[in-house]
Amino acid sequence: MRVLRTVSTLREAVAAARARGDRVGLVPTMGAFHEGHRSLMRRARERCGFVVVSLFVNPTQFNERSDLDRYPRNEAGDAAMAESAGVDVLFAPPVAEVYPSGFSTMVEVAGVSEPLEGAMRGPAHFRGVATVVAKLFNMSQPDDAFFGQKDAQQALLIRRMALDLDFPVQVEVCPTVREADGLALSSRNALLDAESRRRAPALSRALSAVERAVTDGEHDAERALAAGAAILAAAGIVPEYFAAVSADTLAPVSAMTDDTLVALAARLGSVRLIDNVIIGPRGEGR
Ligand code: AMP
Repeated sequence: MRVLRTVSTLREAVAAARARGDRVGLVPTMGAFHEGHRSLMRRARERCGFVVVSLFVNPTQFNERSDLDRYPRNEAGDAAMAESAGVDVLFAPPVAEVYPSGFSTMVEVAGVSEPLEGAMRGPAHFRGVATVVAKLFNMSQPDDAFFGQKDAQQALLIRRMALDLDFPVQVEVCPTVREADGLALSSRNALLDAESRRRAPALSRALSAVERAVTDGEHDAERALAAGAAILAAAGIVPEYFAAVSADTLAPVSAMTDDTLVALAARLGSVRLIDNVIIGPRGEGR
């Protein structure tokens, strides 16, 4: 595996792979790898002859300076994990390579960027995400790009952007990887104190309770959500949002159907966590 830091060396490596006839896969990340990241790398390895993983803690998508400052960073550990997952290139550029002086173009995806995370974190967050992913697509020109269902709204936004801006990229969304107690893996989990870590599985238990309520015949969204809200309340968790929305448009729904996304965000101590589940056959069958 090669670690590359410039767009020109990345382009050369991708061009050589293409000349060999390889399909190129990209897994965009912010590092501090866990099994969620590894599952995307493995999927890319299955699908593509040449796998690029980008590692870039993107400053433009952080709406809180403190979140950026304390975001976990461990490039040496990440490189070892990527290598063991069979990655060909770890692209880890410095900030100035991605945002050189004078940088002034941002990508904004209307609609799906606005509710949920967009409402809580403000428009700069998804503008930063869309901009850096558009740049990574142009830098590495992948055939396939792999994202996690854990960040459901982000995945929808990237699909929309790829379609709208004619990126010749197939976007694949991979299932959420969880701890044995249900907690969705996240780089931010490492920042949870012991008490918050103990309470954190209530998020996925709340989502499972909603799923179960629907399976048991409750199709009214408000009543199904109430089953999950009770679990959050018992764990002393006040969600920033806990919503049933269309999995395609993120518009609120009043009835639970096969394409309802139940999305949840909450702060545990100083750490903000998100999780979600799709109800019905499109879900993960948790
Ligand atoms: P991040 O490094 O947090 O920006 O995440 C990089 C990619 O990994 C994104 O596409 C995330 O959605 C995905 N990801 C993060 N956590 C998980 C998880 N627990 N399961 C599956 N994918 C994940």
